[in-house]
Amino acid sequence: MQELNLVLLGAPGAGKGTQAERLSEDFALRYIATGNMLRAAVREETELGREAKAYMDRGDLVPDDLIIAMIKEALEAPDADRGFILDGFPRTEAQAEALDDELKHLGRLLSSTLLIDVPEEEVVRRLSGRRVCVKGHHNFHVDFDPPKHPDRCDLDGSRLIVRDDDKPEVVQRRLAQYREKTAPLIDYYEKRGILRRVDGSRSADEVNDQIRALIAALRFEE
Ligand SMILES: [Zn+2]
Repeated sequence: MQELNLVLLGAPGAGKGTQAERLSEDFALRYIATGNMLRAAVREETELGREAKAYMDRGDLVPDDLIIAMIKEALEAPDADRGFILDGFPRTEAQAEALDDELKHLGRLLSSTLLIDVPEEEVVRRLSGRRVCVKGHHNFHVDFDPPKHPDRCDLDGSRLIVRDDDKPEVVQRRLAQYREKTAPLIDYYEKRGILRRVDGSRSADEVNDQIRALIAALRFEE
C-alpha cells in the first residue's frame, strides 16, 4: 500500500487536532502538529521556544524559517516513513512551497489536502470556551466538555486557565492571519487537484467518517 501523506487545512478551532489524532492512530501516520511542537518548545525553553513565544503571545505567525526547519526535521524522522499528517503547516504560501521542495527532495508526494470547513462564528465559540489545566495540560470546553467544577481539572485538580492564544483579542488576530495568509492555500491546492473539503460544522465522529470516506476514495484511485 502507498504511503499516506496528508495536510489538514482549516481555521483555528476547526477541529484539526482532534481529527489528526484519530487519523494518526487509525492509519499509523506520524502526527506533525506545529502548535504542539511550538508549545512544547516554549515549555522546555529551548532556543526555538524562546524565539517563537513572542510571536505566539501576540497571535502572530512564527517566522517561516523557524517553522520550516522544525518541519523538515520531523519529516525526515524514521517514524514518518509510512506517512504523515500535517496540522498547522503549511500556513503561508511560502511554507507550502517549502513543503513541496522538501517532499521532492525526499522523493515523496502529498496524497491530499483536507480542508475542514467551519463558519467563523462557530470557530470563535469553540476557541473562546476552551480551558486547559496548568498541571497536565488536560483540555475542557465550557459548552462541549465542561469540567465538574469550574476552574478545576477533573483529572488532577489543578487550575484551569484560558491559553494565551485563546484569549479573545488573540483569537481575532489568529483568524485575521488565517484569512490573509492561510486561506489562499485553498486555491493553491485546489489548482493542483488535491484539495478535498469536509463539513467541519458536524460532530467530530461525523467529520471523521467524512475523512475516512475520502481516504478510501483516494486509495481506490491509486
Ligand atoms: Zn489536568
